[in-house]
Amino acid sequence: MAQKTRMPVIFSGHGSPMLALEHNDITRTLRETGEQLLASQGKPKAILAVSAHWYQGETLVQSAAHPRQIYDMYGFPEELYEVRYNAVGSPALTEEVKNLLGGAVRVDDSWGIDHGIWTVLVHMFPKADIPVVQLSVNGRLTPAKCADLGRKLAPLREEGYLILGSGNVVHNLRMVDWDNEDGSPACKRFNDYITEAVLAGDTNQVLHYGTHPDASYAVPTPDHFLPLCYCLGAADGDAARAFNNVCSLGAIAMTGYVFGD
Ligand code: ZN
Repeated sequence: MAQKTRMPVIFSGHGSPMLALEHNDITRTLRETGEQLLASQGKPKAILAVSAHWYQGETLVQSAAHPRQIYDMYGFPEELYEVRYNAVGSPALTEEVKNLLGGAVRVDDSWGIDHGIWTVLVHMFPKADIPVVQLSVNGRLTPAKCADLGRKLAPLREEGYLILGSGNVVHNLRMVDWDNEDGSPACKRFNDYITEAVLAGDTNQVLHYGTHPDASYAVPTPDHFLPLCYCLGAADGDAARAFNNVCSLGAIAMTGYVFGD
């Protein structure tokens, strides 16, 4: 029997929505990450995208054949609202998710493709020729339960689906310093701590991030951190490499990880 290829799992930082318009080291790396995946694995059948910005009290999955693009951010320059990412949905992927999660998931098309996902995808897969289905972050789940749910989705990888989480290892909007291109000491300490654990395959250390002294600074609310927990589960023990391992705006970490490439 021919060996099936297993798609990697990607977690990406997204930070400010202005990322969509930027052309810098971070966006170049996002582009290269997409190009490398296409070259080594071929085009994914579709992307199951877990966005920090679809933070719900339950696990929801989208089913629309043509999901809306959501401009869920306010007060940015007009050109940001003109960015188009016209990916179609994938009813087949929606069905697979329902089969794998059973009663733990419900179809909901009240949302669409939000800026947590399209600000990354405009760089990673700029052709928008890979269907996208979003899965909500279930805010009622602990980090460990998010990882369990991610693990249940791991078989999608054998079917040629890419699982993409988008959030931030460090995300504290109250402490953002727009004049700081770097990270605060606490931002760097926490980012290093999590990144070392991810690269060492120490999933437990990541899931129990709350024990770190900088945790309340780095993760004041869990919405941007939990997508990483889904990815760790979906990675199913595969080794990780880091990309865009940098802090910006004082209190944002842009760090991403590719698992199993
Ligand atoms: Zn965000």
